[in-house]
Amino acid sequence: MEEMQLLNTLKEYFGFDSFRPLQKKIIDGVFNGHDNMVIMPTGGGKSICYQLPALLLPNITLVISPLIALMKDQVDGLKVNGIEAAFLNSSQSEAEQQEIYTSIEQNELKLLYVAPESLQIIDRFLTDVKVSLIAIDEAHCISSWGHDFRPAYTQLGYLKKRFPSTPMIALTATADKATRKDICNQLNIPNAKKHVASFDRKNLSLEVRPGTKRIEQILQFVDARENESGIIYCLSRKNTEEVSAKLKAHGIKAEAYHAGLGHLERIRIQEDFINDTQQIICATIAFGMGIDKSNIRWVIHYNMPKNLEGYYQEIGRAGRDGLASDTLLFHSYADVVQLQKFAANSKNETVQIAKLDRMKQYSEALTCRRKILLSYFGELKQEDCGNCDICRNPPQFFDGTVIAQKALSCIYRLKGQESITVLIDVLRGAQNEAVLEKNYQNLTTYGIGKEITWRDWQQYIIQLINLGYVEIAFHLHNHLQLTPLSKEILFKGEKLQLAKIPDQKEIQEQTDKTLKRKDSSLFERLRLLRLQIAKEEGIPAYLIFNDATLKEMEKERPMTDEDFIQINGVGRKKMQDYGFQFIKEIIGFSKEKRAPKKSIKGNTKKITLDLYKEGLAIEEIATERKLAVSTIYSHLINLYNENEAIDLHKFISKAELDAIKKAKKSLENPNSLKEYYEHFEESIDYWSIKIGLMILEETGG
Ligand code: ADP
Ligand code: ZN
Repeated sequence: MEEMQLLNTLKEYFGFDSFRPLQKKIIDGVFNGHDNMVIMPTGGGKSICYQLPALLLPNITLVISPLIALMKDQVDGLKVNGIEAAFLNSSQSEAEQQEIYTSIEQNELKLLYVAPESLQIIDRFLTDVKVSLIAIDEAHCISSWGHDFRPAYTQLGYLKKRFPSTPMIALTATADKATRKDICNQLNIPNAKKHVASFDRKNLSLEVRPGTKRIEQILQFVDARENESGIIYCLSRKNTEEVSAKLKAHGIKAEAYHAGLGHLERIRIQEDFINDTQQIICATIAFGMGIDKSNIRWVIHYNMPKNLEGYYQEIGRAGRDGLASDTLLFHSYADVVQLQKFAANSKNETVQIAKLDRMKQYSEALTCRRKILLSYFGELKQEDCGNCDICRNPPQFFDGTVIAQKALSCIYRLKGQESITVLIDVLRGAQNEAVLEKNYQNLTTYGIGKEITWRDWQQYIIQLINLGYVEIAFHLHNHLQLTPLSKEILFKGEKLQLAKIPDQKEIQEQTDKTLKRKDSSLFERLRLLRLQIAKEEGIPAYLIFNDATLKEMEKERPMTDEDFIQINGVGRKKMQDYGFQFIKEIIGFSKEKRAPKKSIKGNTKKITLDLYKEGLAIEEIATERKLAVSTIYSHLINLYNENEAIDLHKFISKAELDAIKKAKKSLENPNSLKEYYEHFEESIDYWSIKIGLMILEETGG
């Protein structure tokens, strides 16, 4: 397939100007008839890899997807791009299914989404149908090694036997090698070409903070992010309710979401979130799995996840549109202890504990977090990322020998029989039950660390644990114990370095200030327009245009169709269907704001303007300038919107204007030019309609 043709199709149907890394290579692989295995992080752009070939291949593409709840949205998303697609799953009536069979037989569909459970039902239909491509989405569901095993997926191995010459493409965001191999074997595509994209999501900032006064921290965090969507992940149902209640008490509209809620309630919350009418959700990790919302701007982990796979998947739900998004993990010692317990009671304890350990190391890291994260997924980076808290505020080391000696000797005095909480209480000379009950106030180390705050002690002790000077006996009530290394400090005069505990409040205020992303009002207006259209059409807002596209509109302010289709994310169908409304909004905004007139000296519009002033007709200007008539129209409309003296009446006859006025009434003020165009059965050209409407708008007609 020619590169030019691929790019044209990409722009025409998806509105994108270029491929993301690997997309082109994968698509070439499909056209060469290879089987392909695609490993790409969430938001990497997997769908294009089969949707684009599907458009250009002669017959139907089958897409196997486990996310029944998402199928409708996926298909709606294709339809608004002008692509014929349907889905088949158990939620449909027989009549609905029959209708789909018919369109399959008539080769009307480019893509058919099928739940693995429904494959058997349609099998008999496939006998007479030619299948161009088979895509297995969320392919890790086939492997019991993966984290999302679906028994129905294991039947998919038969597809390759049934359609031996049809290329197959398996897609997943699961990185781990054993799972990849298992997927290919089970799908009977052992020789599939593997494409592993970088898992680096540069637009996600990474930050870990101590989990003290979490609510206070969250309040400040969301305050700096007005109107932005975010998820707060909690460990349990109860947590989600508590956190949302606390936030609500502070006037923050945060909804709890968990499996214990009724089905309808859950759907309502999800939809409000998707449609941007509910900004913040406190949820258990199940939330977000079936959600394809691309403008989640931040993710907070109120509790620590049990491994880095889960963590990365959850933060990966933010910023799928590629815009800057923030992630914040609260690290609490209590969470670690809790997770340790869960792990110890699980089937494969050793693996779980090892994974939790890596999670802990990440949270307690003193070097670039992204490097640690990516190395976990087998990607080694040389450079620090510059977009994590450590890179932004590199730790400063100091001689921590005295601090270490105090902590270690106190552990020694406590005979290794106490947890971190009691240790800190004793160091700080607390007078609570746990201390007094055991007469710890009589120890020589009682109160020797008063000058250090509770929180800082906790951080120092965590550092000592990570450095190997202290051990947590997880099987003995998490008591802290000395290690052979501690003796070097206590008795042999060895020195050690600790990292300074940064002033959290200062850092937070500083970052929140620099991050403060005030939404401009044009973006806000475009967002509201998008929401209104989405409601009218009964589809999620992000399917109309994603935030990145709206941001580009805000920046470029396209005022003609020609400019509008230049925007990344605007394809032909969407321009026809929505261009008019968005352009109208942008023009309206620009007029209100009376944006200072741009200097038009020497630019192409200025030349058009000069010729217009000389009295040339549009066609004459076009000939003179060797430009398309539509370009001249677009120049003149632009100039008009920039308040140049352009007489729109020159371009349209009185009769045409009257006809448009009439149509506007009888069609009840339609929102798209297309409706007028069809109404006049193309007897009035596109530009005349547009100019006619502009005149009517001005005169209030
Ligand atoms: P995945 O399935 O890998 O999570 P998607 O296919 O949903 O990712 O794509 C994620 C986002 O990236 C979507 O908003 C999509 O429109 C956008 N996208 C995909 N390919 C491109 C591209 N070539 N240029 C710009 N945006 C793209
Ligand atoms: Zn970094």
